[in-house]
Amino acid sequence: MFKFTIVIPLTVCALVAQTALFAQTNASRVSGPPQFDLTALDKSVDPCTDFYHYACGTWLKKNPVPADQAMWGRFNELADRNRDILHEILEQAAKPAASRDATTQKIGDYYAACLDEKAIDAKGLAPLQPQLAGIRNLKDKAQIAGEIARLHEIGVGALFQFSSGQDFKDSNAVIAQFDQGGLGLPDRDYYLKDDPKSVEIRQKYAAHVARMLELAGEKPDQSKADADAIMKFETALAKGSLDLVSRRDPEKVYHRMGKPELAALSPAFHWNEYFTSVGAPAFESINVSYPEFVKTINAAVEGTPLADWRTYLTWQLVHSSAPFLPTPFTQENFNFYAKTLAGTEAMRPRWKRCVDFTDQDLGEALGKKYVEKTFGAEGKARTLKMVDALEKALGQDIEKLDWMTPATKQAALVKLKAITNKIGYPDRWRDYSSVAIKPDDPLGNSFRANEFEVHRELDKIGKPVDRLEWQMTPPTVNAYYDPQMNNINFPAGILQPPFFYTNVDDAVNFGGIGMVIGHELTHGFDDQGSQFDAHGNLKNWWTDKDNEEFRQREACFADEYSGFSVAPGAFVNGKLTLGENTADNGGARIALMALLNTIGNNTAKIDGYTPEQRFFLSFGQIWCENAREEALRLLVQTNEHSPPEFRVKGVVENMPEFQKAFSCKPGQPMAPVHACHVW
Ligand SMILES: [Zn+2]
Repeated sequence: MFKFTIVIPLTVCALVAQTALFAQTNASRVSGPPQFDLTALDKSVDPCTDFYHYACGTWLKKNPVPADQAMWGRFNELADRNRDILHEILEQAAKPAASRDATTQKIGDYYAACLDEKAIDAKGLAPLQPQLAGIRNLKDKAQIAGEIARLHEIGVGALFQFSSGQDFKDSNAVIAQFDQGGLGLPDRDYYLKDDPKSVEIRQKYAAHVARMLELAGEKPDQSKADADAIMKFETALAKGSLDLVSRRDPEKVYHRMGKPELAALSPAFHWNEYFTSVGAPAFESINVSYPEFVKTINAAVEGTPLADWRTYLTWQLVHSSAPFLPTPFTQENFNFYAKTLAGTEAMRPRWKRCVDFTDQDLGEALGKKYVEKTFGAEGKARTLKMVDALEKALGQDIEKLDWMTPATKQAALVKLKAITNKIGYPDRWRDYSSVAIKPDDPLGNSFRANEFEVHRELDKIGKPVDRLEWQMTPPTVNAYYDPQMNNINFPAGILQPPFFYTNVDDAVNFGGIGMVIGHELTHGFDDQGSQFDAHGNLKNWWTDKDNEEFRQREACFADEYSGFSVAPGAFVNGKLTLGENTADNGGARIALMALLNTIGNNTAKIDGYTPEQRFFLSFGQIWCENAREEALRLLVQTNEHSPPEFRVKGVVENMPEFQKAFSCKPGQPMAPVHACHVW
């Protein structure tokens, strides 16, 4: 479930994980952990012409996208290795044994139930009948709010999103949060754009909705009419939604108001009924990300016949339950979301999907076992040492900036000093003891896990902020900076090759995990993060002049990346990806500074490459990735990260240090005359 936060992940492209080099087990694995790989290079390419294909060319040729993937890169390789470990844990946990502890029973039974396709097929739609009946029995519009609350509790994303979160302007307070939602396509623009690709996707989406309704028991004619009604309904929601670029601006999604003000925006929707039914604690004020959307809800309640509401809610319920419904549903769900939207040819094996669902639904129960099996104290200590080196380098960088005045520099250094870091896994594990997991009820397990999560989030309203909490599970191959916590977070899953090796020179590790750490630190100072102060409050700590200088420099990135084309007619959106691109550029620069601070005079070549060259090769190689055209189109429309090729080229083009390391001449593609530089 998407949560209303502005946590900024390094990449969204990966889940789950394997054999840490910090691993104490898995000696039996045949292939062993991968090594830093110079055979991945393509030396026929001039690094100054196309550094990405120089660093990754041979890897790209040897690693086509597998049939069951949309993209395939180094993140996926690592996620696959991590998933193998989770698989072993779950296969073991699924074996019925009197000696299983409570956690093992939960993850084991969840996984086993999910895996049993035969039983799922045999039951048909029976497990969903109570929820379907709830929608069918809606007698008048006054009941809509209560019904939506029941759907939200089990994780169905109908109409809008409601949860908790830190107050942007008082980071010590947790308040209620309302956000737009309720769409079946990935973003509002999919409903509104008129280019042929968008029109084609909408037609295929409507056909998909009709087929799902037909599978759920409707007659073909009825299902087509209903799909049209759903398109109309969701298009109205899309029109009332804020666009992705505007959503990056915290001021544009911050409207704290009292409950009566919310009710005044949409009197036709029974808010008190909703809040009570969803199980929210009593509260006074709520952040409404985009008040216009609340008015859209009012219009929908007033203007949409009850029959269409039933249709829309049924679609949302079936859609959200599809992974745990019989094969025809999962197949149809795959056909649209993975095949049409992302170009994937084949469905992943069931066990891989079930491992991922266990990670999503019981992440810290499974993650605890994963950490016990893989992550040693050494891993934490070595990562902390690198974080120290990176923080020191960012401090030096800030002090040296020629465009920033001393007052703002001082505030920036205060913010940097206040950043806290979390490495590997939570100090306190989530307690799932109240979630009932049964070996023969996969859909119910998922519903109950969602219910637990929804209530866990809502229970935070009015309580002190829990700073120990994680937003990613330990096996995740990813990392994030949280502007309201002002902290950086590195799950155990990413602290492995190709990001971190125990047996290589510093240059390689600083180009890998060093760059990742630098990236997350820089998020505290990107277009979004820079608007929050050292305490995580949305509060301007810049002088006007410095802010002006900063915005101008950021505009340089926005222009640079907007020029990158991924497919005919599809370009990177420089404004949507601004924060990530800023973080990539700043991250690489300070990681290199930290490397040079660390190695001092030890500049000996290894395998024929200088430390600087090895740093850039390692950086380039973490981003080696093949992708299908559809996946790239989806990515640039919806994702705040640039495609990997441009995460490499976009950065080295801006670095004189790169151009010097590879003796590039001014004017060559990787050494443009106008380079961008913020941090
Ligand atoms: Zn990021």
